[in-house]
Amino acid sequence: MSLANKLALERRGRLAAERLLELKEAELSAANRKLGRHAAALQGEIVETRAEVANVKTENERVKTELGQANQKVEIAERRLWHSVQTITDGFAFFNSENRMIAANSSYLTVFDNLELIRPGVHYVTILQVLTDEGIINTGKLTPEAWRELMTERWMQPQPEPITIRLWNDQYIKLVDRRGHGGDIVSLGLNITEAVQYEKQLKSARAEAEAASRAKSAFLANMSHEIRTPMNGVVGMAELLCDTGLSEEQQLYVETIKNSGEALLVIINDVLDYSKIEAQKLQLHPEPFDLERCIHDVIMLLQPSAREKNLTLLVDYDLFLPTVYVGDPGRIRQVLTNLMGNAVKFTSQGHVLVRVTGVPDLENGQAVVNIAIEDTGIGIPEDKIKHIFGEFNQVENERNRQFDGTGLGLAISKRLVDLMSGEMWVTSEDGVGSCFGFKVPFELGTAELPAHPPVPEGLRLIMVVDDIEANRTILRRQLEQIGMGVMTCSNAKEALEQLNQIDLVLTDHNMPGMDGLELAEATCAAGSEVPIVLLSSNSTYAASDPGAQHVHAILQKPLPRADLFTHLQSVGPLLGNQKANTANSGSDERKMRVLAAEDNKTNQLVFRKMIKNADVDLEFADNGEEAVELFQSFEPDMIFMDISMPKMDGKEAATKIREIEKERGGHIPIVALTAHAMDGDDQGILASGIDHYLTKPLRKPQIHSKLRELCPAEASPPFPEEEADARQTG
Ligand code: ADP
Repeated sequence: MSLANKLALERRGRLAAERLLELKEAELSAANRKLGRHAAALQGEIVETRAEVANVKTENERVKTELGQANQKVEIAERRLWHSVQTITDGFAFFNSENRMIAANSSYLTVFDNLELIRPGVHYVTILQVLTDEGIINTGKLTPEAWRELMTERWMQPQPEPITIRLWNDQYIKLVDRRGHGGDIVSLGLNITEAVQYEKQLKSARAEAEAASRAKSAFLANMSHEIRTPMNGVVGMAELLCDTGLSEEQQLYVETIKNSGEALLVIINDVLDYSKIEAQKLQLHPEPFDLERCIHDVIMLLQPSAREKNLTLLVDYDLFLPTVYVGDPGRIRQVLTNLMGNAVKFTSQGHVLVRVTGVPDLENGQAVVNIAIEDTGIGIPEDKIKHIFGEFNQVENERNRQFDGTGLGLAISKRLVDLMSGEMWVTSEDGVGSCFGFKVPFELGTAELPAHPPVPEGLRLIMVVDDIEANRTILRRQLEQIGMGVMTCSNAKEALEQLNQIDLVLTDHNMPGMDGLELAEATCAAGSEVPIVLLSSNSTYAASDPGAQHVHAILQKPLPRADLFTHLQSVGPLLGNQKANTANSGSDERKMRVLAAEDNKTNQLVFRKMIKNADVDLEFADNGEEAVELFQSFEPDMIFMDISMPKMDGKEAATKIREIEKERGGHIPIVALTAHAMDGDDQGILASGIDHYLTKPLRKPQIHSKLRELCPAEASPPFPEEEADARQTG
């Protein structure tokens, strides 16, 4: 190779090397620049981080200080709390969720006499064990095992009920345990010894007071019971003496003896009843009875006093409410007599209305019956309303003082209603009137609702004439409910003008201006033949009035709805001109046979005299044995049976008679004669097969009414001439 070529080659090589060098230098400086930039960025970050660190450090310092302060406060609070817990006299302990004690105050530990074993960490079950083993607890009737089991079971409940335990030294501790969220339990032991002892004292004081009150009531009950027996002689003999030939002066004396005797008996009866209720000796004797009849019976009793004052007695018995219930008819009658008697007593004009409502629950065979007695009497001042239900309490004011009474009636009635699980209430406006009401749950006596009353044939439009609006409304509703058209008139004159198209007139007797009988007369005189039915509160008197010939029937008012409907049916236009005359025509039937078992000769005499007007065959038995014999030989239609008799008492005799009847059939009514039944006596009486009982002293009307009631169809009525007399004299 030539030199020139060699030089050229070397030059090219050098140039290439220089180019490479330049390239590398450029790369190097680029890398250097990048490094420089990175270093600068890093520098910035380091400065920032340093500042942050400094910040965090300060923050940390602050938090630390605050935490320290908070800790201090918590410690102080905890110390104070624990101090308080230590100072309280009640026991206090915490348990963890594994039932181990975390801490307990000294009161809690004192119970264990600071036993070494009972300290934080101890299990609840061990505590129970120590309590029984060391005899700290009085487990009463439970064995220690049973007691521990009971307590453990309780402890395991999510929220155990408080329990009172008794310690060996008769201290009573009430344990109240509360489980927290994490399963911890706070246990409080409250010392309630004083409260328990106080309660015990109260209980024994109350038991003593109740026993004393019962003893007092029993004494009163026995006393009034004993007083009744001799009163029998006094009232009975006075009643008989009244019927003998006496001068006017003597008659006055005897009547005074009789009236005073009877007044005394009312008081004795009230005291006896009240005492029996107080002594918890009064029991109810439920049996099926007809409530509507019961109300009408009481009305019959009150009718004479109501008539004297010209008061109208009304009954509004819900048409579709059953009438037969299972209850104690005697006691219901007593409540009704008290309330209705008061209503009549404290009312001088207007009316007394008995309203009966209720909703029967046929499915359960029950009904809650509401009975309200409204009057238009003197009313009761508002501030006295509560007072009058208290025993011997009466409204003491000028108006009230003219009425006599014991102030026991309402107290007894209220307690009787309470005893029947019922309620009693009163609303009243002074000077305007009162409404006494009570509601009683009854079992239904029959499973059916009362049948729809028959619609009288041929009767479409009835005219009701009555001056008292309440009565017009009641009759209108009752008649409309069975589908009849009703027109009402408040006076007879108005009625006379509207007789056209009327099928029947149902008129009240006593009305201002023209009365019911005069209306009948005027109707006849006007040539109308429309039948007239007279409702009178004194039907016997009405029947004796010459005007009676113009009416088609005279009904005693108020009368049960069923009776009214039955009468209407028979008195419909089909009856024509037939006049009402229900007199019993004489017949040649045999006399009623009556057996009276009574050992006491005086009482036999009283009894004989009392029924001397009765047309019956009477036989006496001196004791129960004779009664059973005569039952077979004399074959009485009914028996009056004294209860306490020598040889065989009345109950035994009745049982024997019922046994005989079982073989040969039949059922003779037996009426017991008792000196007021005491503590379940009456139950025994009825259980022995006796059907009714009368309490001594015997009264003529009671005995007569039993004779009338129990006279069989085949015997002649016991008082035919008495009924005829009544019709003549009115
Ligand atoms: P008594 O009628 O024997 O006085 P009660 O206990 O039956 O006793 O009644 C207590 C009192 O309540 C009566 O004395 C009377 O003041 C008042 N009282 C009761 N019923 C009525 C009534 N219907 N109207 C006005 N006051 C009445």
